[in-house]
Amino acid sequence: MKLAVIGTGYVGLVAGAGFADFGNDVHCVDVDESKIARLSRGEVPIYEPGLDALIASNAKAGRLTFSTDVAAAVRGAEVVIIAVGTPPAADGSADLSAVFAVAETIGKNMNGYKVVVTKSTVPVGTADRIQQIIGRVTKEPFGVASNPEFLKEGAAIEDFMKPDRVVIGSNDARALEVLRRLYSAFVRTNDRIHAMDARSAELTKYAANAMLATRISFMNDLAVLSEKLGADIERVRKAVGADPRIGPKFLFPGVGFGGSCFPKDISALIHTAEGVGHELAVVRAAEEVNKRQKQLLGDKIRRHFDGALEGRTVAVWGLAFKPQTDDIREAPALVLIDMLLEAGAKVRAHDPAAMDNVRALVGDRVTFTETMYQATEGADALALVTEWHEYRQPDFNRIKGLMRTPALFDGRNVWDPKDLRSLGFKYTGIGRP
Ligand code: NAD
Repeated sequence: MKLAVIGTGYVGLVAGAGFADFGNDVHCVDVDESKIARLSRGEVPIYEPGLDALIASNAKAGRLTFSTDVAAAVRGAEVVIIAVGTPPAADGSADLSAVFAVAETIGKNMNGYKVVVTKSTVPVGTADRIQQIIGRVTKEPFGVASNPEFLKEGAAIEDFMKPDRVVIGSNDARALEVLRRLYSAFVRTNDRIHAMDARSAELTKYAANAMLATRISFMNDLAVLSEKLGADIERVRKAVGADPRIGPKFLFPGVGFGGSCFPKDISALIHTAEGVGHELAVVRAAEEVNKRQKQLLGDKIRRHFDGALEGRTVAVWGLAFKPQTDDIREAPALVLIDMLLEAGAKVRAHDPAAMDNVRALVGDRVTFTETMYQATEGADALALVTEWHEYRQPDFNRIKGLMRTPALFDGRNVWDPKDLRSLGFKYTGIGRP
């Protein structure tokens, strides 16, 4: 099939390369000229494991091309996939200006039947609005469909190529048929396509993210309680997750969730519910708990030094909102760094992939170090924020020798408190003694 993918971010690039890999002709377009220039030179502007090889092989085979010409991409495609950003607006709703601008361009460049697909996460009712926007400027036939994306950054290729479900929603039978054909190669072993109306598809994406965010906030809230009660949340987590009705995933207490999806999506869902006079009490609580949780590590460090952080040095390991990505949108590390700098501390930070992105944001207010050990040199505390593999079993003897005072703040409960205390560290985790 001939596809146009509009928006070459985390989702658009992975989807574009993934569809091309199954033999489709994919033209990826973006308004960001520097991004397209880099992609055309064979560079991949984001860190996502496996993506560079997938892009390189498909570009070489001529199935994957890049440009800034949205109009031409639309004219050459049977299926037009919208994968632009839907960032939060000031009132917490999703900012749909890019989606609607693209819809207008699609409408103006229609030349025969096309399926217009939103892969961006968009509020319920957006497919109807896209239908109206395109319908106002063209007489050509078209179908609008919602095809929310469930990939996880860091494992995006695997998720996209072997999806555990493909949700397609449309009120146009022909559009659903085209999408079934497009995805048939991805679900050959087991038909995991969920076809439905567009509104249900749009709501499915928000429901999934709100459920996962709620699980995390639930455990974070219990971790705070666990600490007050002298229980160990890690033991509780494992035993609770052993119940097959509950399962072990997304129960890890930590520093709060960040990323480009959960925070903005739950906020947009709350906003959507308010618009129809419904208060989503559970999701609102998940959001509140998360805001509080992102302050927790900074509060613990401040308390440890009796509120006096002036002149102290804190090493921060992990800046990306999770391992295996360079994405720092809503990252808990940014909240911690702000708290530390505000309190007068010096911050020495390390991350395997996200340092350039944070540097662009905070400049030289933070010292970025080449190695993780350099970050701990002269530090009064070391805070683990993102649990990259290399931070899991570091050489603690070496760290002890490098730090000024050996205080560890384990925001992900990945280190062993007993071992570390016996090495002479002061250990503080989340919800554990
Ligand atoms: P991103 O910010 O990485 O990429 C969006 C891209 O769209 C940018 O390159 C931007 O330049 C481009 N763009 C903006 N306006 C445009 C326009 N008018 N025409 C052409 N291009 C335009 O965003 P992302 O993380 O890829 O997310 C895209 C959408 O997918 C969002 O709605 C997001 O919620 C959703 N989503 C993201 C993930 C994820 O893990 N990142 C997962 C599932 C769904």
